[in-house]
Parts: sequence; structure tokens; C-alpha cells
Amino acid sequence: MVLPAMHEVSIMTEAVRLAVETAQTQGARRVCQMRLRVGAMSGAVPEALQFAFEAVIEGTLAEGATLAIEAIPATWWCAPCAATFERDRPLPECPRCGVWSHELRAGRELEIISIEIE
Ligand SMILES: [Zn+2]
Repeated sequence: MVLPAMHEVSIMTEAVRLAVETAQTQGARRVCQMRLRVGAMSGAVPEALQFAFEAVIEGTLAEGATLAIEAIPATWWCAPCAATFERDRPLPECPRCGVWSHELRAGRELEIISIEIE
């Protein structure tokens, strides 16, 4: 499930709400773990997400749960080289030919991979 790019607290509030809702729907006692995929160009910072997660889970069925973040590097397409390269910033120059790329192939991801409940 893809999450909208917002401030990290809003992102985690929504993600934890979904996890708690899943636990409740399945009759589970608690949420054990959540896995997120976070692209370097998603606008969300993994450290800030982790911090927000710890704050948001307090007093919910997800309290004590762990957050696993799979960081996806930004992968750009260089048309002249017909090749991709990784660079974690917008409008990067191709390391081979120096041409600017504005075609992002991966790195915008911001989604929940899985929710573990018990
Ligand atoms: Zn190139």
C-alpha cells in the first residue's frame, strides 16, 4: 500500500493507524513489526520516520512493535548512455557522460511492505 508523501509524523500516524486497524480486523492482540520501503527521493527521512514511529505507537496495539525500513537508492536513467546510475539528489549528472538526468527510475517509493501481528 502506497502512502502519500507528507511530513514523517503524518506518514507514521497513517501507517500505524492501518497496522492497528489490521490487527483489530484480524482479532490480533498486537502489532509486532512493520516494514516500510522508503525511496531516497520520497521526501521522507528514515531516521525521522523511526523517531515518529516510536512516538505514534505509544498507547496503541502497536506499542512495542519494531519498524524495519528498506531504503531504496535513487536510480536515474541516462538516455545518451542508455544506462542507469545511482545518486541520492535531484537533477544529478551522469557519472559517465556528465549529462543531467531528470528521469527517476526508482527512489520515490513510500509504502508499507508488511504488517506482522499476533
Ligand atoms: Zn550518461
